[in-house]
Amino acid sequence: MRAIRVPRHGGPEVLEIADLPDPRPGPGEVLVEVRAAGVNHLDTWVRRGLPGITLPLPMIPGSDAAGVIAASGPGVTAWKPGDRVFVSPGYSCGRCEACGSGQDPLCRDYGLRGEHRDGTQAGLVVLREDQVLPLPERLSFEEGAAFPLVFLTAWHMLAGRARVRPGDDVLIQAGGSGVGTAAIQIARLHGARVLATVGSDDKAAKAKALGADEVINYRTTDVLAAVRRATGKRGVDIVVESTGQDTWEKSIQCLVKGGRLVTCGATSGPKPDEDIRRIFQKQVTIYGSTMGTRHDWTQLNQLLAARTLRPVIDRTYPLEEAAQAQERMAHAEQFGKLVLTIPPLS
Ligand SMILES: [Zn+2]
Repeated sequence: MRAIRVPRHGGPEVLEIADLPDPRPGPGEVLVEVRAAGVNHLDTWVRRGLPGITLPLPMIPGSDAAGVIAASGPGVTAWKPGDRVFVSPGYSCGRCEACGSGQDPLCRDYGLRGEHRDGTQAGLVVLREDQVLPLPERLSFEEGAAFPLVFLTAWHMLAGRARVRPGDDVLIQAGGSGVGTAAIQIARLHGARVLATVGSDDKAAKAKALGADEVINYRTTDVLAAVRRATGKRGVDIVVESTGQDTWEKSIQCLVKGGRLVTCGATSGPKPDEDIRRIFQKQVTIYGSTMGTRHDWTQLNQLLAARTLRPVIDRTYPLEEAAQAQERMAHAEQFGKLVLTIPPLS
């Protein structure tokens, strides 16, 4: 099979297209023929290397995928060849207290495909049978590869952690990112008023079309001043943070007293300047959030199947052009998701 591989850390040029032996499913496992695989910021971090973390190289990147079941190992009853599925990016032990209570991201053994073990940017991938889910009929393979990581992340941030309520004002930093385009829709669905930041007027129009009530171009407008204007100097109830270093201080300043900030990432860097007086004097709550739970999936799947929520695809590339896709992401040129496609095997 063909696969993208990170043989060593470095720039996009280190990515190689490898010809690898086809994997075979063991007991309780399925073999998925991948038709589309998502690209995430995580891919670029895995390629560049994460400070303080040793990753097992060489590694196949990619956390999201959709495709068809090609074969099943012994004991698999839930799937048959040809079934359309998508891949759950996270995996856990399935037996511990956290897993038993439906909080699988809190499992000690929780990991992400494409970070802790080989990922999905390959022609074939072997998975435990409970790590694939049925792809809703009305979704294409490309859409099936575009939603898992970012919608699960955004849903857990807003519905699970920050508990967004009707009437809340929600500021979404990086509204044009994968998580941002999901968060805009999810906040709206919960009856919130949505403010979103983007980096160009072109993206501003797209964020508006997606349902954002107020869009702020952070390159040309002071975000704090715009938020104060839009909220009558009050500030927002919730900030959705994924960028970290570049935006963190402003995000805290944009909150109303008693507001909540929920963070899932640090795409611009992990160490912001912070004045902790702002946190205690304003009595803000900061929620950390990573991925989501099995329960989140059951809710999300229905909304995606009904097309109440829609993955936003910026652009698709053939698998072999993974490096170009990563470059587009590194320059923050995309609105929504980048997806790699693979033609059917037969
Ligand atoms: Zn567990």
